[in-house]
Amino acid sequence: MSFKPRIESDEIKILRSLNLRMKLASKEKQRYHNLVKGYEGEVMFDALTEKLQCPSYILNDLLLETNNGKCQLDSTVIFQEKINLFEVKNYEGDFYFEGNRFYALPKKEYKNPLLQLQRSESLLRQLLEALGYRIPIESYVVFINPQFTCYQAPLNAPIIYPNQLNRFMSKLNMLSSNLTNRHMKLAEKLASLHLIELPYNRLPPYKYDQLRKGLLCKICYSFLLYVKGCKVICKKCGCEELVDSAVLRGVQEIKLLFPDLKITTILVQEWCSVVDSKKTIRRILKQNYSVEGKKEFSFISLHDQGLF
Ligand SMILES: [Zn+2]
Repeated sequence: MSFKPRIESDEIKILRSLNLRMKLASKEKQRYHNLVKGYEGEVMFDALTEKLQCPSYILNDLLLETNNGKCQLDSTVIFQEKINLFEVKNYEGDFYFEGNRFYALPKKEYKNPLLQLQRSESLLRQLLEALGYRIPIESYVVFINPQFTCYQAPLNAPIIYPNQLNRFMSKLNMLSSNLTNRHMKLAEKLASLHLIELPYNRLPPYKYDQLRKGLLCKICYSFLLYVKGCKVICKKCGCEELVDSAVLRGVQEIKLLFPDLKITTILVQEWCSVVDSKKTIRRILKQNYSVEGKKEFSFISLHDQGLF
């Protein structure tokens, strides 16, 4: 049972938006592609853990903090007598271990996932002890991509290769697991300790004026949209979306990119230029946001006020 779902991070959403709306440096572009690839791998792994029949609580993507630092746990599964911790890697191509180091062929060094795993396991163990739980942790690095090959891995390293995944999941399925209230309390506690980190200090600098305006297709992220009746249609992929929903998506994007910017009808119309009726924009904002202050066209999200 999935106790905490995985959602695309704000950092990916912002970098995607910036990548489409301005010229990113190649380093930033690479970072964006790596984040997306990593996320896709994690979602692939979630699809496997979701199918587990054996009673368990699954916590996807936890960021926890102990006295000794923060740790990002890709996938944590609580069974009756153990916790499985998974570090998921969506690497593609030929890799090898050399001593404590990990490289892609010919010789590009990557963070050693086994060391990452060790650290996460140790921090999780400390946290569990502090919470009064003594439950063994069994942790693995999962290489999820079928195009991944690894040479020279230490023989007994806790690694699951793509061609071993199905067997591994079948084995987990055969576990007898009887979850109690205490397990649920632990799952709830871990989920409640999840930290939400704002991504803004990791992003390249950008300004409103510098960005290309326009609504993006919700499926293929193209700018090639037109309005027909009450729908916005994408010329590229053909997908349709209600104007109201597309505009609200645009507002969410502005708020994510510029959390301090005041949302006004003029601003939203500039951003969602394909919807050229100011009246429509104002109606959508009024229906979904409450007006703040005396200025006629300033809006504050109901969500921000905790009314949703
Ligand atoms: Zn599209």
